[in-house]
This record gives sequence, structure tokens and C-alpha cells, in this order.
Amino acid sequence: MLPPIHFEPLDPRSAVEETRVVSLLGSTGSIGTQTLEIVRLFRDRIRVGALVAGSNVERLAAQAVEFRPDLVVVADRSREEELRDRLRRSGIRVESGPEAVREAAVLPEVDTVVTALVGFAGLLPTLDAVAAGKKIAVANKETLVVAGSLVRERAERSGSVVIPVDSEHSAIFQCLVGEPKDAVERIHLTASGGPFRDRPLHTFADITREEALRHPNWSMGSKITVDSATMMNKGLEVIEARWLFDLEPDRIRVVVHRQSIIHSMVEFRDGSTKAQLGPPDMKVPIQYALSYPERWEAPHARVDWHTLGRLDFEAPDSGRFPALGLAYDALRTGGTAPAVLNAANEAAVAAFLDGRLRFVAMADVVGEATARLGVGGHPDLVELFDADARARAFVEEHAASCAL
Ligand code: NDP
Repeated sequence: MLPPIHFEPLDPRSAVEETRVVSLLGSTGSIGTQTLEIVRLFRDRIRVGALVAGSNVERLAAQAVEFRPDLVVVADRSREEELRDRLRRSGIRVESGPEAVREAAVLPEVDTVVTALVGFAGLLPTLDAVAAGKKIAVANKETLVVAGSLVRERAERSGSVVIPVDSEHSAIFQCLVGEPKDAVERIHLTASGGPFRDRPLHTFADITREEALRHPNWSMGSKITVDSATMMNKGLEVIEARWLFDLEPDRIRVVVHRQSIIHSMVEFRDGSTKAQLGPPDMKVPIQYALSYPERWEAPHARVDWHTLGRLDFEAPDSGRFPALGLAYDALRTGGTAPAVLNAANEAAVAAFLDGRLRFVAMADVVGEATARLGVGGHPDLVELFDADARARAFVEEHAASCAL
């Protein structure tokens, strides 16, 4: 059995007070901006070494002026000039394009990389940062879905510590601190059930983009919000957990918990279960990923136990949310299947958001792509890129031919 990706949780007493120098990939997004809120709270402990965004140069430039990183990168080359103009007299180095994103992930002065960019675009920079031995605060779950075994291999070689930002995985991680690994029987990932947990199934065909983007508990980027509405997000999280915690699929369970107060649970071999709880606020797991193994005092919201009232649990409804089963199937097939699932899902979500694919068609096309294109084995990076491209082409072809 492989060791857990974070190896043994560190003893908080072994922590040394030192400034973290952070490279923030995806600084303009939901996780990125909340990470910068944490930096604002702890300016004496965190310095921003690099900021990276896709194309939003207005927000990126404002962040650069405030946080004074050494390097600012916009992935979209066509926006470089505008970014340079905005930062002309700042003295901050400006770059653009995918190679510059990768450079930001391995800057020598940076010790911690927050991977908060969305989708497959996170794969190469994350692998680079892991290979360079950086501490990784991983939000970009798609990288672990596509190439979890490569990330593990590289982390074992380089000694890179990978700490989850996703609230469920942070909860599991926190429950594991101080526990022997062989004491774990299974883990339970909680799921809110998203906006359609009570909607009559016969009306699913009419679900609109606006309805899918209205999550009851969390405010997030549009891709993950749609993934939450289909529960593909939970499926991706099951695969993410497999690689973060080295657990076989049947030891990873999902339970619908609509209040999102319990962020996940670990069940131990002696019959005891540990859970991590708190209000639904991503700043808490983001901060923990940066402060670990310490805990820093912060003014985040607390649960009011006197008024909370109740916590509910139920099994996920597979008729309503077929995407969850697709993810388990892809994980069991292994090889390129999770990469195909991920790419087909990214393309399907983009097509849904553009109005080219209906809500219910997303799981259909992702399932079809994964069944036809996903094959077991031990793919290398070239094969994973090929699987990704073929899955996207499959969905595009399907979306073009599908009557709305
Ligand atoms: P957003 O869509 O809000 O933000 C994505 C960020 O990535 C933006 O900064 C965007 O830049 C940048 N970006 C997009 N494409 C590229 C690219 N090709 N190269 C470099 N940067 C790029 O996403 P979220 O913050 O919601 O999610 C980020 C990741 O975190 C996802 O993997 C998601 O699954 C995960 N996650 C998110 C949670 C949340 O609460 N939001 C919770 C748990 C996990 P620009 O703004 O310029 O487009």
C-alpha cells in the first residue's frame, strides 16, 4: 500500500514560526480571492510570491498592486499588454502564457503553491510544483482526478506535502491528524445535495442555467457550482479522496447532509467516528492548508449550537444524480477513465453554460464518453492528454448533433 500523500501528519509542536511565500494559481477566482482574504488577515505570516489568472487582468492588476508579488502571470497571452500597462510603474515582473504559469508554480523563493485554477489547466503546473518539492494547498481537484497516481509518485520522490483545500478533504485530513493510518475503516464525504435535491425528477429536463448556478449553501465558481448541482462534484471528490488518502473506492462513502455543517467524517476500526464541523465557509479550510500544522486564531463565523437545531443525513439518490455512479465506475476502471470522465464533464458543463446542452444530457454524454473511451492500465502524461482531447471532441460532436 502507498503511504498517504501528506505522509504522517506533522506534530503542531514541531512547527516553526516562519513566513510562507505563496504562489497563488487562480488568484481571481472564488478560492483565489478567499485565499487573499486569508493573506490580508496574516500579512506577518504569508507573503505572496506570484499571482496567476486566466484572463481577468483588471482584478489581477488590482491584486498585484495590493500584494506586491515578484511575478504576475496571465495565461491568456492576448491580455499581456493590458496587464503590463496596468502595472507599468509597479516594478512587478509580468508574463503570460502556459509556460509562465508553470514558472510561477516553481519559483525558487516560493515554498507553498495554492492550486486554485479550474479544470485540466491545473495539471502541468501542479505536477511541476509537486516535482519541485513545494508544499501544495490543492483546490484544483481535477488534477488529482486525472493524474492522482502521477501526483503521488512525484510527491513520494520529491517529499512534497499535499494538503487539501476542498472542505470535505480538509475535514478528513483534520480528523486523521494524530491517528495511525491503519486505524481507518472508511471515510464518509458529506454532500449538500445541491439545489435539486428536492426538485421533482420529472422536471429535471427543464432545469435552466440560472437554476443550476444557485447553490443553497456555497458561493463558488460556475464550473464547480454546476458540478454540485449534478453531484459530479462529489464524484470527483471521491476520486480525489482515493489519491489523497490512499483508499480503495469501497472505503469511500457519500452521505447527503443538507446543512453542510459536518464537512466529512472518518470511521475507525474500533467503531468510533470523528467528524469536522463548522459553518460552510471555504476560508477555514484554505487557512488550515496554509497554517498547517498550526492553527491560527481568526474571526471566521462560528456555529451557534443553541439555534442550529438539527443535522440531517440521507443516502444519495442515484436516479436523480447518475454522475456520482459514473465517477465510481471510472475510478474502478482506472487508467484513462477518470481523465475521460473529467474532460467530458468539463466540456459538457461548458456546453450547458453556453446553452448547447441540457442539464440531464450532461451525465448521459459523460457516461457515454467514459464507457467508450476510458481504458484501464497505467497511462503516462501523453496518454492522459490524448484521452482528455478525445473526450472533449466526443462531447463537442455530441453537443453539435443533439437537439435541445
Ligand atoms: P473560479 O472559476 O472561480 O476561478 C478559477 C480561477 O482560475 C480564476 O482565477 C481564473 O482566472 C483561473 N484560470 C482559469 N483558466 C486558467 C488557465 N488556463 N490558466 C490559469 N488560470 C486560469 O473557480 P473556483 O475558485 O470556484 O475553483 C477553483 C478550483 O477549486 C476548482 O478546481 C474547484 O473544483 C476547486 N474548489 C472550489 C471550491 C469553491 O468554493 N469555489 C471549493 C472546493 C474546491 P480568470 O478569473 O482570469 O478567468
